[in-house]
Amino acid sequence: KPIIVIVIGMAGSGKTTLMHRLVAHCHETGKRGYVVNLDPAVTNLPYGANIDIRDTVKYKNVMKEYGLGPNGGILTSLNLFATKFDEVVGLVEKRAPEVDYVLVDTPGQIEIFTWSASGAIITEAFASTFPTVVTYVVDTPRSTSPVTFMSNMLYACGILYKTRLPLMLAFNKTDVTQHEFAVEWMEDFEKFQDAVECDKSYNANLSRSLCLVLDEFYQNLHNVGVSAVTGAGIENFFQTVDSCGKEYMENYRKELDERR
Ligand code: GDP
Ligand code: MG
Repeated sequence: KPIIVIVIGMAGSGKTTLMHRLVAHCHETGKRGYVVNLDPAVTNLPYGANIDIRDTVKYKNVMKEYGLGPNGGILTSLNLFATKFDEVVGLVEKRAPEVDYVLVDTPGQIEIFTWSASGAIITEAFASTFPTVVTYVVDTPRSTSPVTFMSNMLYACGILYKTRLPLMLAFNKTDVTQHEFAVEWMEDFEKFQDAVECDKSYNANLSRSLCLVLDEFYQNLHNVGVSAVTGAGIENFFQTVDSCGKEYMENYRKELDERR
């Protein structure tokens, strides 16, 4: 069975560029990829998609038809697509014997996927059928301040507890900024706490509590440093996907089967 890799991250973190790199890597190494684009508003898709939401819903027409702005148009397009998602899962199932990884790109604005019913419907539709992994893409150069880093991690934390799926952080743009500082903060809770407490704009008690939450969160997490632009770390990325896939079978799948 293929592993589904859902790529989530803040706008501009590099989801689409990373998708492009992952697809290219599959071609180069003989991994068999199947590609799904769920961003209705992307104008230039740098990679070829097997399933593209834009073939089914035209978000500009949706905007006009329902009198919506861009964000409402994207959200409604995703909702419309989610109602037919069983067909998408069916298509993937048909191709499953000849596919190793299903790579899924999501809309630029993260909350459209993570704070909507359709995002949850799509995630659950995949996760109830296939081993499914969430990749949270982090814009590493823009996360070097401890408070920004903490906000970003809290967001990822919310996704982990909401989906209960294996989560891997992909620290992207390591060609600009190496991600060692992030690994250090995640491994040594006190170093991170010291760094956050240096920021006087943050309430010390609050930041101490949040650090404790995050420390627990990091225990349940995988992380890799990548550069979507240079291709650094991509082999490691796929290895991490594989171990997350195993984790899915051991935890999520087991729970799902027990409930049935
Ligand atoms: P998305 O909104 O998350 O899909 O982000 P995009 O893939 O569109 O990328 C946003 C910007 O970040 C673009 O200008 C990319 O060229 C740039 N970018 C993405 N990945 C990398 C990377 O690994 N290194 C560098 N230096 N820039 C990157
Ligand atoms: Mg994108």
